[in-house]
This record gives sequence, C-alpha cells and structure tokens, in this order.
Amino acid sequence: MPEDSNNHQGFAGPSTTKKAHTKPPVIRRVSRVFLNDVNAGKATIVRDFLHQCRDVTQYFVDLFWQRQDFSADLADLATVHRGRERFGITTRLAQALAKQAKEVCRAAHANGHRKPRMRRWTSTLYSHFVTLEPFAGGHFDWAVHLTGSGAPRLTLPVHATRHLNGLLGQGWAIAKTIRLGWHKGRLFVEFVLEKARPALKTTGALVGMDSNYKHGLVFSDGQTTGDAAYETIQGFAKRQNHTHAHIKSLLGQALKQIDWSAIRVLCIEDLKHVKKFLRGTFPRRLNRRLSHWMYNFLAEKLAYCCEEQGIRLERKNPWKTSQFCRFCGKWDRRNRRGDQFVCYSCGHADHADYNAAHNLAFLELAGAYGLRSLQSSTFVQ
Ligand SMILES: [Zn+2]
Repeated sequence: MPEDSNNHQGFAGPSTTKKAHTKPPVIRRVSRVFLNDVNAGKATIVRDFLHQCRDVTQYFVDLFWQRQDFSADLADLATVHRGRERFGITTRLAQALAKQAKEVCRAAHANGHRKPRMRRWTSTLYSHFVTLEPFAGGHFDWAVHLTGSGAPRLTLPVHATRHLNGLLGQGWAIAKTIRLGWHKGRLFVEFVLEKARPALKTTGALVGMDSNYKHGLVFSDGQTTGDAAYETIQGFAKRQNHTHAHIKSLLGQALKQIDWSAIRVLCIEDLKHVKKFLRGTFPRRLNRRLSHWMYNFLAEKLAYCCEEQGIRLERKNPWKTSQFCRFCGKWDRRNRRGDQFVCYSCGHADHADYNAAHNLAFLELAGAYGLRSLQSSTFVQ
C-alpha cells in the first residue's frame, strides 16, 4: 500500500469535477516529516495518545455509520459527550475526533465504500491542540507544541526536509492545523501547506496526454517525458527489487520536464479504464499492480501540477482511442501497427501515442467522455 494513498480525512487531493465554483479558495499539500530525534519517553506518550485517538474516532465512525448520518453538520453535543464519557477524554478532543469521523464517513459514503476501518494511527490536530513556531536555538527548524486541551502537553522538535523547504520556497504557507501519526514504530508530523487557488487559465491549448511503458508520457502538443524512467521501471519489475520511493523519484523528475505554460486544458485517461499496461512483458499480476500504482501516482501528481498552474484537468475513457481516426471518424483494429498509426479509411498517419493523446483531447473538444458516447451521437460506425 503506497503511503500517499491516505489523504482522506479532509485533505483529499484535487478534484477534477467541472463544478469550479464549488472548489475551495485554497489548495493544499501535505509534507511528512519523521521525528527521529524525539526521545523515547515523549514518543511513547504521543503514540499512546494517537492510539486512543484512533479508538475514539472508530467509535464515532461506528455511531455515524449506524445512523447513516453522512451530513456535513458538526456532531451533536449528546454524541460528543457519549464519546467523552466512554473514553474519559476532554470535550474538545471528543469534538475534534467526532468531526474527523464524520469526514471519514462522508467521504466513504460518497465513494460508495463500506464502513471505514481506522487502521492508521494518524490524527488531525487543530489549533486548539497545537501551535507551530520556528525552533529557538537553531539546532532544529520547527517546534511543534502540543498544548493540552486533551492532547499531551509537550514540544516536538522538527528538522525541515527538502520537500518541506521546497514548498515553502515556492510560496506555500504552513497552516495551523497539522497531522500527527505513528507508522511502523516511527512518529511523524504532517505539515499542511496552503496557497491561494490560481484562477483557471482562459488562454492556451487543449492538450491530451497518453502514457505507456515504452514511451513514457506523450503529449499531443509534442512534448514527451519519462521514457527513460519507464524503461528503468520495467527493469525493476522484472527483478522485483524496486522500491516505490525510487519509482516516485524517477517519475517526479520526468514530471519536472513538462512545460505547462501553453496548456489550458489537459485530458488524460480515466483510471477506471486503464488496462492497456496488461500487455507489458512482465508477470501479469505484478504488472497490473505496478501499473495501477504508477498510474495513480502520476494522475495525482498531474492533478497537483494542473491545480497549481490553473489548468483544467479532464479524465476520458481511452476505449479504442489507439485505433480511432479523428479525421474520418472511423476506427479499425488494423489502424494500429506497433508504434505507427495509419488509418485504413483515409490514410492519416501519425505516431501511435500521439494519435492516442490527440484523441483524448479530441474527446474534450467533442464534449464527450468516450468514443462510445460519441459514436451514438455523432458518428455511425
Ligand atoms: Zn481516417
């Protein structure tokens, strides 16, 4: 399970729905820093606190789920008091955890999931429980003060990471709310970084992006990136000794090569339909798992890039986009010959990946989610 998949609890990734007016005015990122210098006594206190928070949150999740209460309202006071009495915690803490439980339930319900199980010992701490300031004395960078009110009262010294400093250097500001967690015997703090959401661009190109193991990311505006990364990753998969961290760093470098300045709308494949990596050369199960993990990672990072650049991101059904000719509106299995696309009907020729990328953008131009809906409305096969 990739560590980055736990961005529920109110810090969901960027959404790609068309309801731009409902988007919050700030965009957020999370930066995780492991606290390796905290002494064992403090670490134990915080770990026990997080363990209890997990139990209390699960208790509230069970209650809300049983009541089928998926509203956005705050938990009622009677419910908060029930949790307070049962676990012997403060009202303030019970309130905060009930709020998190409601968010978790609401997100799970909206996504059609079953009742959430709180497996992670991670809690969001609002400014009632924590303050953050530069570390006095210079040995560390930040001091996270837990200030009581139901949380322990102690100070956690933090060394800033390159990731955190990078974000701060790019104009992100640290929010008052932090997340605190315990993972595999290590305590970590997640800083929440915020920035004003840029307005969506009104000028620029409508661009499609296709990705695959052979050629990496291929954009319909002519940009390509990541082909070397994909090649390296395919080597990992064969040997099965890759690390997700290494793959992330390779893909991250590839993403940095993209020039976003002329792009207004980006169309990518909807993960629901990504099956094409199945025809790769390594074991099928591993291939599928890795492909989905990589696709998820890339899609999340692309969504972040678009959010920061004011680019609208659209997900499209890639069904038959590799065999479709947008010039004559016909598709044929034979149109695709390895890396080449040549239309059997009109003779249009292109690189196969560019053709697929162009077709994703074409779908947006045609106001369609996939070729199937386009077929029924515009084209007759
Ligand atoms: Zn054609």
